[in-house]
Amino acid sequence: MRRVLILGGTAEARALAAELAGGGTYVVSSLAGRVTNPRLPVGEVREGGFGGPDGLADWLAAERIDAVVDATHPFAARMSASAAEATVRAGVPLLVLRRRGWREGPGDAWQRVPSLEEAAARLADMPGERVFLTTGRRSLPVFTGLSGVWLLARSVDPPDAPVPANVHVLLDRGPYTVEGERSLIREHRLDVLVTKDSGGEMTVAKLAAARELGLPVIMVDRPSPPPGVRVVDAVAVAAAWAQG
Ligand code: NAP
Repeated sequence: MRRVLILGGTAEARALAAELAGGGTYVVSSLAGRVTNPRLPVGEVREGGFGGPDGLADWLAAERIDAVVDATHPFAARMSASAAEATVRAGVPLLVLRRRGWREGPGDAWQRVPSLEEAAARLADMPGERVFLTTGRRSLPVFTGLSGVWLLARSVDPPDAPVPANVHVLLDRGPYTVEGERSLIREHRLDVLVTKDSGGEMTVAKLAAARELGLPVIMVDRPSPPPGVRVVDAVAVAAAWAQG
């Protein structure tokens, strides 16, 4: 039986696991193990890092893996780089399954920035603004030094460290609705949205709400995928590839 490793942590990874398992492929999904109560895919699941590219290459050999699909989040750049290196070393084919980024449309007012640090620098020029920050709990330290703005920081799990008085943490997990996002923006009188270009449907509602309410958006661009690796954006294409 063909043995496939899915590097997961995304809705696409769960959909792929379901499709492969349903088609009779042995599939093991790997999660980083950071979220307290993760949504689990069907099939075998392992949790925690591999110990860098060497650790992953050894694991692939020990588990006799035939193919790897990197279906991690578009911002999980270290895991993607590690997978690219490890699969070359282990001689195992790799495919990256990555959802498309969001596109700006009529009525949007986005500023694209290359990094979280640049997003924070833009906010430093907006004293007094009330910010809707949706870049994830591990990015919080980049923003908590900004004393001139008020931040509503939404994340799945609580931050690792206490936050200053100008930061209000909201624990929640998508999918979100446009109506819900609109209410949240109104309730907290938010002036600007900061988000990573994660793409996908689960968290896109905030962009529609921002458009409707005239909020500017600071959009952090995603890192490039590792060079020389084939990238697809459809689960069905990844499933066909993985089945050989
Ligand atoms: P990252 O910075 O690229 O990865 C850091 C290290 O965590 C990796 O070197 C690896 O450790 C381990 N790791 C990451 N993903 C793993 C996986 N699927 N299975 C086993 N080990 C993994 O990753 P991240 O941005 O922290 O993301 C961690 C996980 O959360 C990923 O699975 C990703 O799909 C999911 N996620 C991330 C975001 C985001 O915004 N970054 C959002 C939603 C979900 P070793 O080097 O020891 O192997």
